[in-house]
Amino acid sequence: MAKIDWKQEVHKRKNELIQDLQGLLRIRSVLNETNATEEAPLGTGVKKALEYLLDLGKRDGFLIKNVGNLAGHLEMGSGDGLIAALCHVDVVPEGDGWIVDPFGGEIREGRIYGRGAIDDKGPTIAAYYGMKIVRDLGLPIDKRIRLIIGTDEESKWRCVNHYFENEEMPDRGFAPDADFPVIHAEKGIADFDLKQNRNSLREKGAKITLISFFSGRRYNMVPDYARAVLDIQQEQTEILQQFNDFIYRQELTGRYYVESGYVVLELEGISAHGMEPDHGKNAGLLLAGFLSTIKIDRKGMEFIKAAVHFFLGDSRGRALGVQHKDEQMGDVTINVGIMTYNDEDGGRFGLNMRYPASFSLDEGMEKIMRAAEEFHFQVSDISNLKPHYVPADDILIQKLVKVYEQQTNEKAELLAISGGTYARSLQSGVAFGALFPGRPDVAHQKDEYMELEDLLRAAALYAQAFYELALDE
Ligand SMILES: [Zn+2]
Repeated sequence: MAKIDWKQEVHKRKNELIQDLQGLLRIRSVLNETNATEEAPLGTGVKKALEYLLDLGKRDGFLIKNVGNLAGHLEMGSGDGLIAALCHVDVVPEGDGWIVDPFGGEIREGRIYGRGAIDDKGPTIAAYYGMKIVRDLGLPIDKRIRLIIGTDEESKWRCVNHYFENEEMPDRGFAPDADFPVIHAEKGIADFDLKQNRNSLREKGAKITLISFFSGRRYNMVPDYARAVLDIQQEQTEILQQFNDFIYRQELTGRYYVESGYVVLELEGISAHGMEPDHGKNAGLLLAGFLSTIKIDRKGMEFIKAAVHFFLGDSRGRALGVQHKDEQMGDVTINVGIMTYNDEDGGRFGLNMRYPASFSLDEGMEKIMRAAEEFHFQVSDISNLKPHYVPADDILIQKLVKVYEQQTNEKAELLAISGGTYARSLQSGVAFGALFPGRPDVAHQKDEYMELEDLLRAAALYAQAFYELALDE
């Protein structure tokens, strides 16, 4: 067969591709459960976007299916084998400060603008045209190709959960919802609590008593604020002076005041995503660091000492005994997203641990339990997302790498990340685009855009990827 010029095929369809994307960008497909109905469980905007894609599929002769109004697919080809691209048409709210209309689909200086342009409507339409080109050319393929459309990626993944409860799992697939070249490894993510034992009693008559402590609300964020309430019976001025010195030395922002007879200490840190705690300054841990230098009551000190011993200045779990490095996927990391303390409930740490595929979570948890016990803490409320990993020699990766290298003339380095992509919901799936290396990531930001050039490059990559993956090995 003659060699197919994938880029040329995309260019022939450039105008309709852009128009179809503009139509999709003009739908405000933001989750809205206040107008939810059975036909539109996530709101009418999201539903309209799903229907828009299904209508495109009908127009161009694909087999289409709406799956519970939460997801859907377009299909072509025949055979037992199934390969798929997993996309989503829901978007996060537009937010403020846009220079262009967030739902206008405007084109300026070679970029197409709009909420969802890069996440994930642009890549979705690129994948759609990739599939359409394979169909238009009537290429002989051995497997069925599906474009799966989710509508709840930005919040609870109810789309893919429902979809895969009811529909067949593809043999292989990719999600055009992250970065090129190929993301083949995503860390496991375990959230759990360390809770202070109930039988720790508060010491009577201490000079300083920790009444309460609060920092952070989310496991996966570094807290940027912490607050401790103290009952200080003696030497109050001296302690407040020490707090001032501490703030000054550490170059932090903080304050103190008296409220209902108690002294309140507040400290500010720097927020960051929990996937790399070292990118932030954990206000809770820093405040614990200060409290460890003054003599507070025994139960309060047990909480503070645990914070300092296990976590202060250590995001790698060394003191918990779970330090682990993986050549490809990096370190185990632990983010202390939540810290609370009061007399009734005792202390609690809400932790977000991210770990590579070569780390045993069961063994790690046992080590953490033993270490925590020494400080009178117990592990509870564990939730876990397993690592997602497709080995480099898997045929899926081999084929995608070949396609990428052929079309871009650049080496396709495999990426390992600490976050999670949509590809996780596929049994054998990787993230494949559509943000090219070196491009700024404008997803979820104001004036979100995709370079038209990248949109077309992505479509050509997806066309060839579908084709190659749909051939028998
Ligand atoms: Zn996305």
